[in-house]
Amino acid sequence: MRHILWPLREVWMKVELEKLENHEGVAVKALLDSGATGLFIDMTFAKEKGFKMQKLKNPLLVRNVDGMANVGGAIMHQVECNMFFKGHVERARMDVCNLGKTEVILGISWLAAHNLEIDWEKGEVKMTWCPLICGKRKQEVKEKVVKKTRKNEDKEVLRELVPKKFWK
Ligand SMILES: [Zn+2]
Repeated sequence: MRHILWPLREVWMKVELEKLENHEGVAVKALLDSGATGLFIDMTFAKEKGFKMQKLKNPLLVRNVDGMANVGGAIMHQVECNMFFKGHVERARMDVCNLGKTEVILGISWLAAHNLEIDWEKGEVKMTWCPLICGKRKQEVKEKVVKKTRKNEDKEVLRELVPKKFWK
C-alpha cells in the first residue's frame, strides 16, 4: 500500500486592510482558522503598521480551548478597517491580541458568514458563495446588468450595419 504524505496544509489569504482615517492600504497574510472564534490582528503588527486602536469599554477575556486564561491576557483594543480580497470588500472589526508570527486570523464566524470556497489540495480560496450584502457580489450583480444592456445595444448597432435581409 502506498502512503501519500500531504504537506501540512494551512490556508492563507492575501488580503488588504485599509485604514479608515487615511485610506492607506496594508497587505496582510491572513490565516484561516476554524478553531478561532472571530477576527484577530496581532498587536505588534498592528502597532508597527500604525493601525488606530480603539479601546474597548469592557475588556474581552481570552480563554484557551482547555479553559485556562490565555497568556496574552484580555483583549483591550479593536482595530476597525476595510478588508479587501480580490474585489471583495467589507468593514472589519478585529480584536487585538498576541498572535506571534501570524498577522491576522480569520476565524469561524467570518468563515461561516462568507462561506468560502476552499480548495484544500491547492490551498486556494475563492469568495464565490458570499451573501448578497458583500461588496463583491453587489458589484458582480451590477456588472452583469451592465453587460446585459451593453450586449443588447451592441446587437442593435450590428443590426444597423447588416442589411435587413440577414437579420435573424
Ligand atoms: Zn463575503
